[in-house]
Amino acid sequence: MKPLIEVQNLAVSYYTYAGEVQSVRGVSFQISKGQTVAMVGESGCGKSVTAKSLMGLIEKPGKVKEGSRIFYEGQEISAYNETKWNGFRGKEISMIFQDALVSLNPTMCIGKQIKENLANHFPEIGNQEQDRRAVEMLQKAGIPDAVLCMRKYPHELSGGMRQRVMIAMAMITKPKMLIADEPTTSLDVTIQAQILELMQELQEETGMSILMITHDMGVVADIADEIIVMYAGKIVERGACRDIFYHPQHPYTWSLLNSVPRIDTGEDKKLVTIEGNIPDMTCPPKGCGFCERCPYAMNVCREYMPDAAKVSDGHEVWCWLTDKRADLSGIPFQIETDRTAKERKLVSENRAKEESEQKAVCREENR
Ligand code: SF4
Repeated sequence: MKPLIEVQNLAVSYYTYAGEVQSVRGVSFQISKGQTVAMVGESGCGKSVTAKSLMGLIEKPGKVKEGSRIFYEGQEISAYNETKWNGFRGKEISMIFQDALVSLNPTMCIGKQIKENLANHFPEIGNQEQDRRAVEMLQKAGIPDAVLCMRKYPHELSGGMRQRVMIAMAMITKPKMLIADEPTTSLDVTIQAQILELMQELQEETGMSILMITHDMGVVADIADEIIVMYAGKIVERGACRDIFYHPQHPYTWSLLNSVPRIDTGEDKKLVTIEGNIPDMTCPPKGCGFCERCPYAMNVCREYMPDAAKVSDGHEVWCWLTDKRADLSGIPFQIETDRTAKERKLVSENRAKEESEQKAVCREENR
């Protein structure tokens, strides 16, 4: 099956007075229809710039570099001009942002803003029908009195309600993909859970794909089918949600996982912060981008970029620890990539068996 979106070797730089900031450095991935992919990493690792590239939203001094290719349903959209992008974004792919108060127009009532998005892409729809669809979409987004909400202004709504309005606005054109850039970061945990649930309900109803951009591993555990871990403008690990949570292979992924609370760890277990900062992207490291912060860094890490190593089907990692010659003493997680293909197959079969047994136990307990 063809992927809905396919990104090949995406590189984006910002040309500033300080020099060329290499925000994204050769990223490739695919998203299938109906799939939820979470892109995780600290601020400044290139997640949001990658997402903006999919919408044609890279503005000067930024530039999508030559050789980058983005395909949507098999058609190359990276070659679109501004007119084509205007017809594409908001219709085929919609995006919601972290701060709805900033994204919504404060001088325009909610109804007008939602209808404007619909009218931009479907000018043939009459005013009454626009009203009907806007109210229906607000109701689907969980707004209690949708008719009244149409007349309200953004500042009259709570943060959670504003984010619901943003989702309604993004979904009114029935896009095939929703990009959510930190959509729950400014909300409290209860509202966060409600917004994630709403996105999942809408996904089940419409079959859309979701690209979730977040730095919060807790959020992705609930929602993602696949996780892409980014660092210093590159993908450092990717795999199914269960692979990343239960069999992480990259030291940066370990750090991210150790920095979130887990229900199965004792009260005395401290959350670990990741020491240091992301590298200066005007002159990124020659080798692995994480080498200055990585406790297991070797000489080779500073000099050469690691290649992708396959852990299991759909699970890849870019780290020199996967090389057979690496010293793995003191490594807290099991590195699996130096196993033979036969051993890997066995590991993945056992893992699937374990998971299905665990699910059966859960089902039994929930009865
Ligand atoms: Fe650490 Fe080296 Fe792996 Fe980079 S390649 S994460 S520096 S061990």
